[in-house]
Amino acid sequence: MKFAERYDGIVVGAGVAGLTAAVRMAQAGLRVLVMERHNVAGGCASFYQRGGYRFDVGATLVGGFGRRGVHSQIFSELGVQLVARRLDPAMVVYLGKQRILRYGDARWRAERIAAFGAEGEAFWRKQERLADLAWDFSGRMPALPVDASGLRAFVAALRPAHLGLLPALGKTLASIMPPGRSALRAFVDVQLLITAQCDADAADLAYAATALDLAREGTYHLDGGVAAISTALARSLRRLGGSIGYGIEAARAIVERGRVRGVEIAGGQFVPARSVVLAVPVQNAAELSADIRDAFGARIAALPQRWGAFMAYVGLPAEAVPADTALHHQVVLDPAAALGEGNSVFISLSAADESARARNGGRAVTLSTHTDVALWERAEHDGDMERLRADYVSRLLRALERALPGSAERALLVESATPLTFARYTGRSRGLVGGLPQTPALATLGAFSHHTPVRGLFLCGDTTFPGQSTVGATLSGNAAGRAAAG
Ligand SMILES: Cc1cc2nc3c(=O)[nH]c(=O)nc-3n(C[C@H](O)[C@H](O)[C@H](O)COP(=O)(O)OP(=O)(O)OC[C@H]3O[C@@H](n4cnc5c(N)ncnc54)[C@H](O)[C@@H]3O)c2cc1C
Repeated sequence: MKFAERYDGIVVGAGVAGLTAAVRMAQAGLRVLVMERHNVAGGCASFYQRGGYRFDVGATLVGGFGRRGVHSQIFSELGVQLVARRLDPAMVVYLGKQRILRYGDARWRAERIAAFGAEGEAFWRKQERLADLAWDFSGRMPALPVDASGLRAFVAALRPAHLGLLPALGKTLASIMPPGRSALRAFVDVQLLITAQCDADAADLAYAATALDLAREGTYHLDGGVAAISTALARSLRRLGGSIGYGIEAARAIVERGRVRGVEIAGGQFVPARSVVLAVPVQNAAELSADIRDAFGARIAALPQRWGAFMAYVGLPAEAVPADTALHHQVVLDPAAALGEGNSVFISLSAADESARARNGGRAVTLSTHTDVALWERAEHDGDMERLRADYVSRLLRALERALPGSAERALLVESATPLTFARYTGRSRGLVGGLPQTPALATLGAFSHHTPVRGLFLCGDTTFPGQSTVGATLSGNAAGRAAAG
């Protein structure tokens, strides 16, 4: 790629966060370049095609497309229309033999009483009340305050009702739950695993209350798959005059006298810019900048993050899936055993009429389970990868059988990905995905912000405020892009 002599802004990483930041900068009139090491945009919310199927590689189910949703707001500003189907129920959850429909409307009350008994009601009422307050507050305060004007905006956003959030500070969700193991606890823990990357004992109370509220707030299936978000952002960016350099790996941010000067790419070339946004995980940002390493290295080294994802991508023929099958399923094979590692599996299907994702009514199915990245690092070291991979594929297919009996043996295609695959394609350190566990120490006010000690250098992505998901990445990209545009 031939670079311009100078850019106003460089964004490193064309995931959802980086593209959002770049769009914001381009909207403000900046000449923007996005550097992306892969040959396609989207990162963890990207796609790949094989054998006539188009698979979501990671993210499959999204929020943010409701009336007050951040994706809706941005795409309406950009004049882009994506086809987002609201799903209610959002998903079907299987706890062993139990099957629970995760409704977002008034049906949820009857469903949860049937599943967990009336004794869970006091918990659900507290959760919904806290979530209402937290949604309202976060809607008014989308970025962490990092300077005096941010602090003034923070205070101005506060309403008397938000004082109801104060008692939640520093507490975990478990503090408002009935004690002991129960179906309710198993359900809450597995829902939090995919939204907060930790269980009720560890998850920040206010964050977890909103994470459990996603079905009520609105969950959506995107026609064409979740990659439609990054494809649309990339197209809009080009329309606004920005450019994306694929196959370009940033090697380091160049800083002189406390101010960013540009980016050196792999191979040594220097590309100057007035501002730089590192839209990569904080661990990667620390590798790209000695200043970030100096400022945050100790905090990063202490992060309690271990989750990667093991994936199976399964191509099914039309006849393997009954027409009324829900598009998203969360399976816990044994509710008494630890979650992740193939015991809890998230399963998403393309819709029967999404012909761009599978021919003749077939379905492109993405299955994922949380897995400790150290397991795969050891397996690679010990030459045990293929045995472990085959073992995990069979665990995921067992979960598929639970949700869709008889489908696994009809699969026309089965491929898989390990944390090492994520490390290879997204560059994420050790293949860690899903952002940071949302504990009281790391959620909301404890999160990494878009701010760095270097003038003109900003961070965004799912390891920064407000955390994981396409919505979280978008909000962080918004904050960083606006700050970079000055
Ligand atoms: C298995 C899985 C399932 C998920 N499910 C959901 C879901 O259902 N719903 C949901 O909302 N979220 C889900 N998520 C989370 C969501 O996908 C992420 O939080 C979000 O997409 C992260 O976006 P990002 O831009 O912060 O980072 P990334 O997606 O990691 O993007 C970073 C980009 O930077 C590039 N890059 C890295 N280093 C460099 C470099 N040095 N130079 C140039 N480019 C570089 C990478 O190639 C990548 O494209 C899931 C994630 C995974 C892994």
